[in-house]
Amino acid sequence: MCHAHRNLIGWSMLSPLAYHRKYSYGGGMLLFPTQFHMFNSLLLALVILLMSLLPRETVAEWYKDERAIMGTRIAVEFWDEDHHHAEQCAVRVFNEMHRIDALMSPYKPDSELSHINQQAAKGAIQISEEMFNLLKKSLSMSELSNGAFDITFSSVGYLYNYREGIKPTEEEIQQSLPNIDYHHVVLNEKTRSVRFTQPGVRIDLGGIAKGYAVDNGIAILVSCGIKGGLVTAGGDSRILGDRGNRPWMMGIRHPRKKDAVAVMLPLSNTAISTSGDYERFFIEDGKRYHHIISPRTGKSVTSTWSATVIGPDATTTDALSTTLFVLGPEAGLRLIESLSGIDAVIIDAHGQMYYSSGLAPPAAEAAQTGAGSPK
Ligand code: ADP
Ligand code: MG
Repeated sequence: MCHAHRNLIGWSMLSPLAYHRKYSYGGGMLLFPTQFHMFNSLLLALVILLMSLLPRETVAEWYKDERAIMGTRIAVEFWDEDHHHAEQCAVRVFNEMHRIDALMSPYKPDSELSHINQQAAKGAIQISEEMFNLLKKSLSMSELSNGAFDITFSSVGYLYNYREGIKPTEEEIQQSLPNIDYHHVVLNEKTRSVRFTQPGVRIDLGGIAKGYAVDNGIAILVSCGIKGGLVTAGGDSRILGDRGNRPWMMGIRHPRKKDAVAVMLPLSNTAISTSGDYERFFIEDGKRYHHIISPRTGKSVTSTWSATVIGPDATTTDALSTTLFVLGPEAGLRLIESLSGIDAVIIDAHGQMYYSSGLAPPAAEAAQTGAGSPK
């Protein structure tokens, strides 16, 4: 039976390296937030095993729906015994996503974001409170990350079209690179306005807006009286409550094996975001061009395959997952360890996995009690 668990969640691959929180992994593994330590890990394994054996009827009242909005997959799943009420709440969530898209899409010429990009270099323009707050949050993430997260990445970033395999020339990159710097975006709290310090500056909220949309989606579910549910927008999710007295099992995709899961995390009442280089990319001459841009170089980041952040709200985890992707494992984990209530899993460009001290595999728990210690 113990053997069956091992196969089920694939922790048989855990090696003594686990002790160093650095893995070269072959298959999926399981990580627990350490607050689960109070839980016996064997008990948890049993819970997970039982979850897979539960009869289908028990999940029948989990209302599920999904749409393609904001260029990504938006999904909702929540417990509501009244199907009609559930439908109405889900529609409210989807409408909210449409509203945010209309406001923040860089592809819609009359979005507020496009308006800012067209006008803000000419002088300060007044913006909505919502936009102001998200710009403020974006700039604070830039400060926190020492410029790794920078919405002005788009000053060069807009020259890439991943779907059509288009990239800027070296000369174009060098020409526009000085326009990447979050200090070029100046907010004025009193007039609720924004201005760019120079022409050529462009902003894009792609690294934070989906998380924001997910947070608003969860707020709608709460206002609907929902106690347990999940809202997902692409790589950003937030969990409300749990999944009927058990955690939601959230998988982090394997960055190089299609449809494989690299890590499973049992989570409740939290947000989780993953940034990967496999979402939007093209390959030319053996080089991968993807949508996460180093503000220093104006080019795709090469140090990381995927970065996942777990934290209280999706706006923060979204921005931080993009940040960690740019920073890479060492600087990324250093940042995470300096923040409270936030955890991360990073897979670098060699397939090595790193995770923060707030996460632990079941084996690490065993190691602490002496059993299976790597000594
Ligand atoms: P997704 O869910 O779209 O994969 P991510 O959270 O991984 O989103 O963020 C990727 C998006 O973030 C890009 O599509 C782009 O819009 C934006 N972005 C890229 N590089 C940066 C950066 N250095 N700082 C802030 N945002 C960025
Ligand atoms: Mg992100």
